[in-house]
Amino acid sequence: MTDKLPIPSEADSQDEPLALPAFRHMGQFEEHDVVVIGSGPGASLAACLMAEAGREVLVLEEGDYWPLEAIEPFSSSEMRYKYRNGGITMALGRPTIQYVEGRCLGGGSEVNSGLHHRLPDETVWNWTARYGLEDFNPAELKSHSEAVERDLSVSLMPEGAIPEASLVLKNGAESLGWCCPEIPRYRRFGPNDSTGERQTMIKTYLPRAKAAGAGIVHGARAVRIKRPKNGGAYQLDIHINKPDYPKIRAEVLAKTVILGAGPVGSALLLRRSGLSAKSGKFLHLHPTVKLIAQFDRVINYPGLGVPVHQVKEFGSTMSFGCSISSPHYMSVSMASQPHGLEIVRDLWPHLIIYYATIVPEGYGSVTPIPGFKEPLVRFKLTKRDLAALSLAMKRLGRLLFAAGAKRLFPSVRGLDFFENPSDLDKIPSVLPAGKSELMTIHLTSTNPMAQTPELGVTDQWGALWGHKNLLISDASVLCSGPGVNPQGPLLTVARRNLTHYLGG
Ligand SMILES: Cc1cc2nc3c(=O)[nH]c(=O)nc-3n(C[C@H](O)[C@H](O)[C@H](O)COP(=O)(O)OP(=O)(O)OC[C@H]3O[C@@H](n4cnc5c(N)ncnc54)[C@H](O)[C@@H]3O)c2cc1C
Repeated sequence: MTDKLPIPSEADSQDEPLALPAFRHMGQFEEHDVVVIGSGPGASLAACLMAEAGREVLVLEEGDYWPLEAIEPFSSSEMRYKYRNGGITMALGRPTIQYVEGRCLGGGSEVNSGLHHRLPDETVWNWTARYGLEDFNPAELKSHSEAVERDLSVSLMPEGAIPEASLVLKNGAESLGWCCPEIPRYRRFGPNDSTGERQTMIKTYLPRAKAAGAGIVHGARAVRIKRPKNGGAYQLDIHINKPDYPKIRAEVLAKTVILGAGPVGSALLLRRSGLSAKSGKFLHLHPTVKLIAQFDRVINYPGLGVPVHQVKEFGSTMSFGCSISSPHYMSVSMASQPHGLEIVRDLWPHLIIYYATIVPEGYGSVTPIPGFKEPLVRFKLTKRDLAALSLAMKRLGRLLFAAGAKRLFPSVRGLDFFENPSDLDKIPSVLPAGKSELMTIHLTSTNPMAQTPELGVTDQWGALWGHKNLLISDASVLCSGPGVNPQGPLLTVARRNLTHYLGG
């Protein structure tokens, strides 16, 4: 793999291209029936269902199109080309939480591990009670979850294909009597195939949308949505931004807008456009702490794959799993340890990153800053959250020692490594705000659905209050962090909302 990759174009591909370069496609004030902004899971599903229902659809994606085979998964090149800001994005607060988001055709689905969950019943009932959602219950959502699972080939790993790093978590949990299931993934396996193919958006909903007539354009960022005048169409201001080409501005009109720019992007666009003063004010996320476990045998190797077990003993408010542990990810995670980089250099095959994550009571915000492209993202964890993270780290440490780990390196500056279970008592009962290195890959809820405009940003079917033709279809409409990996829950909710919009 080269370090500087050419952006694939129509001409580069032997096959029919999935997406068109933006500058060849956009015209001034061309009118569309449906314009979908973004191409992450929520947006791609929307484009597919709308196009298959016979609507004329144009998808606009800010990032570029990268075929799956173009960039090695979980590499530094992937971060550089497929992540927003190369993965350097922060929710400011005490502690600051590093977050990452996909920014490419297919959004987060192209960079994620593809672990699939249904929305937990506990979360469903919570939202129903707190946000007054009607017709929102596990029975009503089931058919939507099942359809998504079929569409994305949700599967368990074939026998013998699960990495040892994942089985360590399972064995440790079993020795403590804790529940630790294998989580299925968006992956299609052929006969006698133990590797399978990732079922991301560029492999699933986007080709289906295209086959049903949708236009898909990459390198096109929507910068403003202007409200319709006299019952007409929305006007979208677009910036076309491709390396080595002059910057171009364009306008398109849309009878229906589907906003799927992700929790940060959708809130930013609604606020910049003056369409919702409340958008962005309910940011939620799953804060995550890490323990890097050292084993006395080789457990890590190039191409380790994605560990698939998660500890679910503590309901949806606290879970543990195993992270991507490539040298690049490991170096970033070891940053808080003195001599961390030397440890990674010398011991990497013996090291695996494990994580513990919680659903916090704290909230955050996404605020546009005049003159800047990116918004200010903030998050405030409460003392209870920091105590829950401490408990989570202690429990995970117990499990890893039970599974045979020799040393554990915590993601808390100033805490040395632990060599036996009693060392875990050194973890303060409330994690120190100034020294804890937290991260998240699960952002949600900047435009939560609710029964009234006082409680949320969209109505209970994901339409922006006062805009029946501006539907939001991404993780921002989830009422809170779902307590599990969010792609399955957001797709289920998006499918429910789109089916309702289409009159189904
Ligand atoms: C490393 C990583 C691992 C993960 N692992 C899992 C997992 O295993 N399972 C799981 O369920 N979830 C996982 N997630 C989370 C999951 O990927 C996200 O929850 C999901 O992608 C969110 O989908 P979305 O529809 O909200 O949009 P996103 O995926 O956030 O996509 C939004 C898209 O919109 C584009 N966009 C933004 N603004 C504009 C604009 N103004 N104009 C045009 N385009 C715009 C962006 O470039 C982006 O491509 C992971 C995430 C990451 C980063």
